[in-house]
Amino acid sequence: MSGPTVAVIGAGISGLTMSKMLADYGLEFATFESSDRVGGNWAFGNPNGHSSAYRSLHIDTSKHQLSFKDFPMPEEYPDFPHHTQVKEYLDSYADAFDIRRRIEFENGVLHARRLGADEGGGWELETQRTGTRRFDVLVVANGHHWDPRFADKPGEYTGLTMHSHAYIDPRTPYDLTGKRILIIGLGNSAADIAVELSSKTLDNEVVISTRSSAWIVPKYFAGKPADKYYRTSPHIPFAWQRKFVQVMQPMTAGRPEDYGLPTPNHKFFEAHPTQSVELPLRLGSGDLRAKGDIERWDGRTVHFADGTCEDFDVVIHATGYNITFPFFDEDLVSAPENHIRLYKRIFKPGLEDLAFVGFAQSTPTLFPFVECQTRLVAAWLAGRYEPPTEAEMERVIDEDQQKYTAHMVQRPRHTQQLDFFLYEHDIRVKEIPAGMARAARAGVAR
Ligand SMILES: Cc1cc2nc3c(=O)[nH]c(=O)nc-3n(C[C@H](O)[C@H](O)[C@H](O)COP(=O)(O)OP(=O)(O)OC[C@H]3O[C@@H](n4cnc5c(N)ncnc54)[C@H](O)[C@@H]3O)c2cc1C
Repeated sequence: MSGPTVAVIGAGISGLTMSKMLADYGLEFATFESSDRVGGNWAFGNPNGHSSAYRSLHIDTSKHQLSFKDFPMPEEYPDFPHHTQVKEYLDSYADAFDIRRRIEFENGVLHARRLGADEGGGWELETQRTGTRRFDVLVVANGHHWDPRFADKPGEYTGLTMHSHAYIDPRTPYDLTGKRILIIGLGNSAADIAVELSSKTLDNEVVISTRSSAWIVPKYFAGKPADKYYRTSPHIPFAWQRKFVQVMQPMTAGRPEDYGLPTPNHKFFEAHPTQSVELPLRLGSGDLRAKGDIERWDGRTVHFADGTCEDFDVVIHATGYNITFPFFDEDLVSAPENHIRLYKRIFKPGLEDLAFVGFAQSTPTLFPFVECQTRLVAAWLAGRYEPPTEAEMERVIDEDQQKYTAHMVQRPRHTQQLDFFLYEHDIRVKEIPAGMARAARAGVAR
């Protein structure tokens, strides 16, 4: 089949699924990967620094929710596989669909320039080892969990500072035994790291500092992976479903204050909940303490907003990531404070030869989410789907933002929050049929 020439940036889960869909449609494409391997974040110790996996990391989403729809995780995998198993799974996905040969490894995109109409349109890519290359369409799948975001406080801290991005991987030879350690943040990584470092065998004194606090949800409920029970319905108002879980949460998993966390400044599901079975136990066993926000640094002393201060040898920022596109000129595409307006988290209005994949915080799972996005992108590239007008895209971006994030605490962490089940239903039942009708009309008009 003839069609546009397509460049994909990245071979993590987003770039892999995109490449598979493009191959399915028989489209001409090249996938550029700056690393020597697939998997991105899930390639522990990735030589290009794009993995934020730490040695002990297990997925928080159970394999039942994580699996790609057309490639289930192996039966013998545990409910919450280790990151090495996720990497093996992605390797076998690449092999099963023969994607590897379509990927140009160690050939990252250094710069992407959009060509004007007078230059024939499309994109000119400056690549790591094959010089300048030209394509009609660009698909961006470079991930958003690799550029660490640090807590910005006045003063200077003179102890060891690290980010969860670099916590216990082959690049961090630190000995974290017998130390006074402060962990900033209360997301999933912060909880994992706090649990690990507060184990009595390491003889550490560990404190966790949280600005907003968090609702903690267990990974198992009634003996089953808890996310097996999570399924939002597109037929009941989202606000009512939130109300229901807000009532249920304290009854099933208790309140954060019960085991020593500060009172959250939000209701359940107004911020990303943290999944951890062990965190409440560590806090409840006195191995771990929690404090509120930090006011300032002073040498090794940390001053907290409640007026207290303590000395620490190590501060670990588990404070999330920036959305960064180093290959774009900033005035063309950027995401200040993690805001980037994308139609269906895919299209940037005004740039009709560009698509994004994987730029969402999708609850409870990202893998089938990117699969769903790439299905739409491939249909678009094959001429079967057409996005709406720019004005309509802008209107729908506002509407979707209202639906998915208006109730959330307004932080860079939540700018691209959405619910997978509502999103998938919207794309499958409404957006693809509507886009196919638009494409058919455009075809008739042409
Ligand atoms: C600690 C941690 C735990 C997580 N746990 C879960 C979980 O339990 N469940 C869940 O659903 N999600 C989880 N996630 C989120 C999610 O699964 C990952 O962020 C996922 O890896 C996103 O895939 P991606 O392909 O979009 O990005 P990435 O995995 O980051 O892949 C991007 C790829 O692009 C390549 N690249 C980057 N720049 C360039 C360039 N200029 N040129 C060429 N190639 C480039 C990179 O090398 C990389 O291979 C977790 C994330 C983290 C950090």
